[in-house]
Amino acid sequence: MPAHPILIAGGGIAGIAGALGLARNGRESRVFEQAKAFETVGAGLQIGPNAVRALKYLGAWDIVAPASFAPAAIFIRDGRSGRILQEIRLGGEFERRFGEPYRVVHRADLLAGLIAQAKAQAGIELITGTRIEGFSDKVGYVEVRAGDETFRGEALLGADGIRSAIRKGLGVGGEPQLHKQILYRALTPFDRPLSERLSAITLWLCQNGHVVHYPVRGGSALNVVAAVNGTWTDEGWSSPADRPELMAHFAKIDPDLFHVLAVSSPWQKWAAADQPPAESWSRNRVTLIGDAVHAALPYLAQGAAMALEDAVALSRCTQRADTIADAFRAYEKLRRPRTARIAVDSRRLGRIYHAGGAVRVVRNAILRLTDPAGFLDRLAWIYDFDPAAI
Ligand SMILES: Cc1cc2nc3c(=O)[nH]c(=O)nc-3n(C[C@H](O)[C@H](O)[C@H](O)COP(=O)(O)OP(=O)(O)OC[C@H]3O[C@@H](n4cnc5c(N)ncnc54)[C@H](O)[C@@H]3O)c2cc1C
Repeated sequence: MPAHPILIAGGGIAGIAGALGLARNGRESRVFEQAKAFETVGAGLQIGPNAVRALKYLGAWDIVAPASFAPAAIFIRDGRSGRILQEIRLGGEFERRFGEPYRVVHRADLLAGLIAQAKAQAGIELITGTRIEGFSDKVGYVEVRAGDETFRGEALLGADGIRSAIRKGLGVGGEPQLHKQILYRALTPFDRPLSERLSAITLWLCQNGHVVHYPVRGGSALNVVAAVNGTWTDEGWSSPADRPELMAHFAKIDPDLFHVLAVSSPWQKWAAADQPPAESWSRNRVTLIGDAVHAALPYLAQGAAMALEDAVALSRCTQRADTIADAFRAYEKLRRPRTARIAVDSRRLGRIYHAGGAVRVVRNAILRLTDPAGFLDRLAWIYDFDPAAI
């Protein structure tokens, strides 16, 4: 048994999932979260079949599933005409095709489920209000700094999100890359049952923008995200936004979409950023997991899923390798191609989703003429994946 636990900087989805993955191999860990309490903020996350498989491996699915919402379908609609371009049913046939369901969940509910499982598990220590500022990779152990304190560990996982201090310390990649897109988000409580249409995941394709909405919290709230082309000029990465500012981006839109945007509030906006895929991100006893290493634009809805898959892959690699450094190298080699493809495809989708003119006409025709089974075949590389089968 190693003399020290594995240290994890960051108590988001990646950090807690990472601890659960290590616990499956009997490895002890200490998770340091900078916030005073585990974040209850955030909004909707999509949990595809690959993410469900990862949650099952980590032992958290039974806790998370009751807090998730099972949408009946995914609709892709043209934002101007309202025409349904593609309709994918998410019930029995989808589950037979991919072996697991497609769910949506509030980020706080997913995180709460992971934390509940971590607390029920021996060997995971959760520490809040502690920001990891730096680390040193010593002979035989790592040391991290948090204010006046230092902590020793067998190894360190940087799970500290897109502006990762650990990534900076490793000298991996540059700063997150800003895109000329702004993300607006609202989580609107609903005190009456949602209509069948609003109970689905709906993706609206508009000129210079797109909108995604679906229910969370048992259908008691509607999660709405609108991405628009535009340059981020505010201080920081996120700020409150108002409805007129958002609506100015959506001049000619279908009344159904107008209604969703009109009733949703309050709005918050984010600078759309990602992290260009790194060639390598492990150095001896230190590695990165989740958004700290491969943050992508959210257009494939795979941010949480990639973090969960990372945790499973890391668990499998530490089970097998002789040394922690070998395990980290094997993990990185496994994860790089898939996470890089998600980042690259997400960027490409942004361009296709926001197209106007002839590109819009061709895109819509392709979507209408592709049968749902064929459409899902194109996504099979994402949803068929089993991170434990490596
Ligand atoms: C507050 C918040 C709300 C979000 N809401 C949404 C959402 O509504 N929809 C969506 O699709 N995605 C959301 N995301 C992103 C989504 O959760 C991630 O893309 C995905 O789950 C991968 O998570 P992660 O754990 O790698 O990174 P993150 O979710 O960014 O978590 C990183 C964690 O590390 C902590 N941290 C950072 N630096 C340090 C440090 N130096 N020392 C200690 N702790 C540190 C942060 O406080 C945070 O808790 C949100 C992220 C955050 C932080």
